[in-house]
Amino acid sequence: MYNKQYHQEWNKKNKERIRLQKQAYYLKNKKRIDARNIEYALKNREKTYEQQRKWREQKRLKNLTRRPRRRHLKEGEFLPYRNKYGDLREQAIRRDEGKCIDCGMTREEHVRFFGVDITVDHKDGEGYNSKNPNNILENLATRCLRCHGKKDQKRMGKIN
Ligand SMILES: [Zn+2]
Repeated sequence: MYNKQYHQEWNKKNKERIRLQKQAYYLKNKKRIDARNIEYALKNREKTYEQQRKWREQKRLKNLTRRPRRRHLKEGEFLPYRNKYGDLREQAIRRDEGKCIDCGMTREEHVRFFGVDITVDHKDGEGYNSKNPNNILENLATRCLRCHGKKDQKRMGKIN
């Protein structure tokens, strides 16, 4: 009966012997083996190239769609958002006493909870992604990420 473990152990013990045997076999049949290898490589060259191209393309697409990792902040540290509306952002947060106007979460709590600075929302939805952003102080509201997301979903008619 075939005993896999016995064979594995035997192979381990006789590594050198097997190597020499293989080498002898190769030297004896060199011409035939080489010819076969070359033939295989030539025959499948297109296939190999095709596979390589596919992998490269997959890697490229993966890199394109990968989102940058959000940097997590230490306690008490603020990462200022890109200042697209200048000092208005800070003004709005100051006016709202540094709290989410819906749930009251403070700026410090926001950093601790979400790892990023509290967000400032455009009340009419004409913000970053709008063609005509409405960047006036009256249109800005301090909101935590959770309330901000809820509001945007409501606006888009996803929830009531
Ligand atoms: Zn909130």
